[in-house]
Amino acid sequence: MATPRAKKKASPRATAARPAAKSVSNPAAAPAERKTLITTQLERLGVRRDFDLVLHLPLRYEDETRIMTIGDACAGGGSGVPVQVEGRVIDTEVMYRPRRQLVTRIEDDTGTLHLRFFNFYPSQAKVLATGATLRAFGEVKSGFFGGEMIHPRFHVLRGAEPLPQSLTPVYPTTAGLGQPLLRKLIERALSSQPLDDTLPEAVFAPLGVPGFATAVDVIHHPRALTAAGAQHEARLLQDRSHPAWRRIKFDELLAQQLSMRIHYRQRRARTAPALADRGALTERLLKLLPFELTGAQQRAWAEIARDIGAAHPMHRLLQGDVGSGKTVVAALAALRAVDNGLQAAVMAPTEILAEQHYRKFHEWLAPLGVNVAWLTGSQTKVERRAALAAIASGDTPVVVGTHALFQDTVQFKALGLAIVDEQHRFGVAQRLALRKKGRKAKAEEAPADEALEILNEPHQLMMSATPIPRTLSMSVYADLDVSVIDELPPGRTPVVTKLIADGRRAEVVARIRDACREGRQAYWVCPLIEESETLDLQTAIDTHAALTAEFPELRVGLAHGRLAPADKAAVMAGFKEGAIDLLVATTVIEVGVDVPNASQMVIEHAERFGLAQLHQLRGRVGRGSAESTCILLYQGPLSQTARQRLKVIYESTDGFAIAEADLALRGPGEYLGARQSGAPLLRFADLLEDKSLVEAAHEAAEQLLDNDPETARRHLERWLGGRSEFMKA
Ligand code: ADP
Ligand code: MG
Repeated sequence: MATPRAKKKASPRATAARPAAKSVSNPAAAPAERKTLITTQLERLGVRRDFDLVLHLPLRYEDETRIMTIGDACAGGGSGVPVQVEGRVIDTEVMYRPRRQLVTRIEDDTGTLHLRFFNFYPSQAKVLATGATLRAFGEVKSGFFGGEMIHPRFHVLRGAEPLPQSLTPVYPTTAGLGQPLLRKLIERALSSQPLDDTLPEAVFAPLGVPGFATAVDVIHHPRALTAAGAQHEARLLQDRSHPAWRRIKFDELLAQQLSMRIHYRQRRARTAPALADRGALTERLLKLLPFELTGAQQRAWAEIARDIGAAHPMHRLLQGDVGSGKTVVAALAALRAVDNGLQAAVMAPTEILAEQHYRKFHEWLAPLGVNVAWLTGSQTKVERRAALAAIASGDTPVVVGTHALFQDTVQFKALGLAIVDEQHRFGVAQRLALRKKGRKAKAEEAPADEALEILNEPHQLMMSATPIPRTLSMSVYADLDVSVIDELPPGRTPVVTKLIADGRRAEVVARIRDACREGRQAYWVCPLIEESETLDLQTAIDTHAALTAEFPELRVGLAHGRLAPADKAAVMAGFKEGAIDLLVATTVIEVGVDVPNASQMVIEHAERFGLAQLHQLRGRVGRGSAESTCILLYQGPLSQTARQRLKVIYESTDGFAIAEADLALRGPGEYLGARQSGAPLLRFADLLEDKSLVEAAHEAAEQLLDNDPETARRHLERWLGGRSEFMKA
């Protein structure tokens, strides 16, 4: 154990002293060995075929077309941007304080500059001999002795050497694969690969972007900066808004749209049981409900009913802000399946949420004579066996559960509809497993009949309380149909949000005491500490103890993720029934928990939560008719983004507005969660900055698939050939 570690410690200095590229072009390595090494390194960069090198585009550019005088550079001429200087070596020496380093001083007619190298090999001191002329490239910082560059890239001039004519591209790379070699490989690919356009001019010209060959040429070989307007062009290249970049981004977005829309069309070509409107159960539920559906709920239900009435699998996303009433729409869809003699499964990401759905479905469906089964990982073996048997025999037409429903042991008699709540919390694999649930059951009855098997694919209704901006939806949900419930049920009083510094905690405590004394209930949310689930738990336990002491007259409960499921369920049930006044909880209550009498919420360390999370949490109150308050306790000093987040949540209760702000603050990656995990969705396009291109690609994809499928195929081959597909579900 000790020896290899000691070895590892000793080696970095030795290897780091060499420029990275050296190890690859090591002449001692046999050619074949070298080949495989490069191949492995390229694969790490996602480069699998020669053409991928054409699309291996620079991360940024460095400007080596100009020399800045040392005087200007030291006076802040580069202001944070790397610059190039040229000068004669005055002297070079090894220094030992504060740590071993090589320091070279160079000068020109305008000033002196220190170059520092912390990792160097002894011969470097000889290269940097007094009197040599250097070109050095790097960022100038002001050090103790004046201007200095740390680890600049440099080379010794051997005579008059012309400056490069164009910006130097800097490519994404990996350990051991240096820029010069990568550049050479890319050059080779550019001259050997066909760069003909996949798209007719009519598709891209209206966007004001060049042909494909021109676009890659400009991006890999940016033009010289001497021409008028070139400075401007260089800036456009750097920030990727240049027409050449826009062409590449459009191509990428188009490939994404094509692949998702093909997926969409393929699904529409498959078969599923048509769930006809037989009226009985859905009508009866509507009559039994103590409320009327809102216009938005009616619209969403009509869209779903139309889809599942057709003999093709529906994949519809039902989006609606917290409290907008998605559950009842889901129940109607489930009843339509039951009306047609088929089963419906309802899946939720957490035990608490699944249990709540179970109660709701049971409350609504039992009076109609429809049995609802319940399946989670925490059941006893006996309970579980009974549930599985009832599901397999078809005795229970509706099943509610957690991830447990995805397991192989769960066999439906005839699954017609799968409902997935908070769909972004489930992975793609789980939804694929779901699709097979319908097939398997049938396959056992008629193992030889492939057609029958496919006939049984269930419809899928996905639900999300995370509203998503349109551009994003167009991009990531291009393979789905989307219904939006954009209206809250009437009679809700909007939640009042207060921002209160932690120093005024006593006031907050008094306020909660008053509210609970008046018969209202409250949540007290403890923050998530990212690095440590254990600490989280401790915080919740401590807070619970402190509040129990503070409110001897109140019944204080505690819910957190580590609680045994039965205990957690008991706590939640107690809160729902009013046996608990104040519920101390971690974010386990974030999703979907519905207790209308709970009108007060305190969120501790609100500055640590994300926007979407705060919005979800706040959505737990304001569900009844009592005036509701959400107090965001924060602890200063606040970071810039924390301040912005709190401002957004304070000023807005509109889920879509909050989603837009969240997207702007966090970027789309984090925002989409599980749906996007795995391969990166887009390498070049930015869903926020390139909105207009997303829309253009969306339209172009539909047109090509309708009118020119051969072009669509060619375009996809160029962008996807060899690489993993764009994510879909
Ligand atoms: P979410 O969309 O967040 O899942 P729910 O389905 O839990 O919302 O609904 C929130 C609450 O509103 C529930 O108590 C539900 O019974 C009630 N509700 C749903 N639709 C209506 C309506 N049209 N009128 C009045 N209350 C409704
Ligand atoms: Mg819900």
